[in-house]
Amino acid sequence: MPRISLNAPCPCHSGKKGKGCCAPYLAGTPAPTAEALMRSRYAAYATGDAGYIIATTHPASPHAEPERAAWAEGIREFSAQVKFLGLDVELAETSGDTAVVQFLATLDRGGVDASFRERSAFERVGGRWLYREGQPQPTEPSADAGSSADRSWSRRLTTRPPARRA
Ligand SMILES: [Zn+2]
Repeated sequence: MPRISLNAPCPCHSGKKGKGCCAPYLAGTPAPTAEALMRSRYAAYATGDAGYIIATTHPASPHAEPERAAWAEGIREFSAQVKFLGLDVELAETSGDTAVVQFLATLDRGGVDASFRERSAFERVGGRWLYREGQPQPTEPSADAGSSADRSWSRRLTTRPPARRA
């Protein structure tokens, strides 16, 4: 199972070493905040840790796939194809057992900019924060909102083939 290096810079681009950032969460320690969970999920995508992504997705999430093996395979495929170049957390608000985190993920997929901005909803269940769902946001204030609708973890991770463009 993939793990973050303890002494290398954390893959979530926090500037901290893995052991002082996301490594404990990927090893099983509950992330204390939704923002910490979000960062650790980014780190998990960056390292192809499909098990962690699945374990931290709310079972009732619309992004949860019924077929776990195919879901895990899709995550690993995505991770292998993408360079995870940056993460900016732009907003983090917690209210009781729910939270919203907005971030900009800077990604490169085969030399093509695959960056996206998402507003993610999280829910705390039994003391553990879980990813509930994500709303794609425009990547630039002036960007066409239509094109950004394709941009999110969930759309990128779908195991179904992408729709053909006319
Ligand atoms: Zn980290």
